[in-house]
Amino acid sequence: MAFADPIMVEVERKLDAGIPLSMDDGLALYRTWDIHTLGRLARRQKERKSGKKVFYVLNRYINSTNVCFAGCTFCSFAADEFKEPQRVFRMTADQVFAKAVETGTNFNQIHIVGGHDPRQLSLDYWLPLMRRFKAALPHVQLSLFTAAEIEYMAKRHRMSFPQIVTELKNAGLDNVNGGAAEIFAEATRAKICANKVSASNWLLLHEELHRQGVASNATMLYGHIESIEDRIDHLIRLRESQERSPGFNAFIPLAFHPDGNELSYCGWTTGLDDIRTFAVARLMLNNFDHIKAYWMIQGLKVCQVALEFGADDMDGTHGSTDEEMIYHSAGTQSGQYVDDREFRRLIEEAGYLPVRRNSTYDEFPWDWAPDALPVSSAALPESSAALPESSAALPESSAALPVSS
Ligand code: SF4
Repeated sequence: MAFADPIMVEVERKLDAGIPLSMDDGLALYRTWDIHTLGRLARRQKERKSGKKVFYVLNRYINSTNVCFAGCTFCSFAADEFKEPQRVFRMTADQVFAKAVETGTNFNQIHIVGGHDPRQLSLDYWLPLMRRFKAALPHVQLSLFTAAEIEYMAKRHRMSFPQIVTELKNAGLDNVNGGAAEIFAEATRAKICANKVSASNWLLLHEELHRQGVASNATMLYGHIESIEDRIDHLIRLRESQERSPGFNAFIPLAFHPDGNELSYCGWTTGLDDIRTFAVARLMLNNFDHIKAYWMIQGLKVCQVALEFGADDMDGTHGSTDEEMIYHSAGTQSGQYVDDREFRRLIEEAGYLPVRRNSTYDEFPWDWAPDALPVSSAALPESSAALPESSAALPESSAALPVSS
């Protein structure tokens, strides 16, 4: 095979020998002008992992609250309850449950994330709601929280990471979402999300989840103030974490969106940067099974092209109304819902086999539907999610509390 860029010869030799790519290799992949060979190598790695399959999930996506005091500079979603009360929303547990089933029960995953809300983000709210989901919808996997939310709850309840993971697992947690990873490189992280989970605690928490049998995903927020070195460093830290404590299923590159946040001067990512990032991730993360092209972030058209550059997952159908608020606050032009027939059309046109999955990549026929549910969801008792009256009930300073063992 003739290579347009000679650096690709060495990269292919390493890939064929199963040798993890280095920082220098990753930088070279980002800098090469030979985008076609980059795509070919990434596609070949993808096919080594998942053959001709490309996955999607019938799911429900909910942002349960936008109240947050973390102040991440890239965030357009969070609302300060005291400064901008008109923007605040905070769903009760009953509202979350009702939203999840408003268009029926034939879905395999519920994905919920929210802000660091002192009145919602507690085990008192979540454990009864999780048990209610599991009782009413045993076929639905719970993909809840990010590491930032779990760390917040651990501090709040004065629990170690192993303790809180056990509590959440016993209540039915199947998978933890990959958000809050942002960029691990500390100097950059300090400028974009100084007040939320540190890079080391993000990794520690995911490794504890995996040790206790809870799956998770991982993300990287790119296209803001980070350097290319930061991106490759991020991927290598994830690869090393997966080596120490396997359990990540998918890596999801998240393109920065600039509307309505402090980093809006960074602008939008380009199509080529998006495509290159999918390919570089596929080549660097040799111990991750899946690279997800999340249609909500880069858009359906770019995500279809990403299937030619190493991605093997398009994420989920989402809801039918207005559930996704994080990227819609930041300017995404993606809608709120993709019919699963559209996923199959896009995947087949790219030459791949569409496969319906759940959070942990169990496979389902496209027309699978749950058997009769054990109890009518409407007949279930309402969740006893008592919210604390105010955030004044929280410990004075969570910074001093132990968060890991
Ligand atoms: S990104 Fe998450 S933690 Fe950061 S301000 Fe927004 S909602 Fe809060």
